[in-house]
Amino acid sequence: MNSDRSFPDIVLASRNVKKSREIAELLRPHGVEVLSVADFPDVAEVVEDGNSFAENAAKKAVQTAKQLSRWAIGEDSGLMVDALDGAPGIYSARYSGENATDEENNAKLIEALRGIAPDKRNAGYVCNVALSDPEGQVQLQVEAGCRGRIVDDPRGTNGFGYDPHFLIREYHRTFGELSPIVKSRLSHRARAFERLIPQLIKLFQELAPRS
Ligand code: IMP
Repeated sequence: MNSDRSFPDIVLASRNVKKSREIAELLRPHGVEVLSVADFPDVAEVVEDGNSFAENAAKKAVQTAKQLSRWAIGEDSGLMVDALDGAPGIYSARYSGENATDEENNAKLIEALRGIAPDKRNAGYVCNVALSDPEGQVQLQVEAGCRGRIVDDPRGTNGFGYDPHFLIREYHRTFGELSPIVKSRLSHRARAFERLIPQLIKLFQELAPRS
């Protein structure tokens, strides 16, 4: 644990405000401050054309780091539904088209699952996180998931994206209903950062004497 703010700030290569807030909250207790790429207007939008969460996360991190000559985190995440052969997967943000809203994506998801029994609606969120150094070299990369089940009727207003439909079985609640504190312990993003943070702290501590 480091709280003396001796670590370099990291730019988060995401313009998704709610996702960025979740990530900032996960890192802050460890003395790592996250800057949003939205605060750097000259940084070009990264085209997410990779074939996996890992490729997209690395691409976001590397391109952002190189443009700003700063440490950068790329995060790519999405929902994989078993009965839909893993869809929407890496296309989660644009499942119902470019610039789709969460409501449009959720409507398409529920339509795709029409007629599928509740016990056949298992799904997982996946989160991949890459950390690039200022030169554009990926130094760390992790992936984690969390399992749930898709429910037809939206429940709750917390979270974002597919959260009102993503039921956590153990809690009998969706991420839309569960508090941000609970999501910050159980989610795919929480689990990925749980893996990343000790490695990140070790890396920065090793680099510190040289910087
Ligand atoms: P990305 O910003 O390209 O990684 O797209 C992520 C998309 O996956 C979001 O727009 C949501 O549709 C979905 N997603 C990822 N994480 C979550 C989450 O924690 N809750 C709900 N939806 C999520």
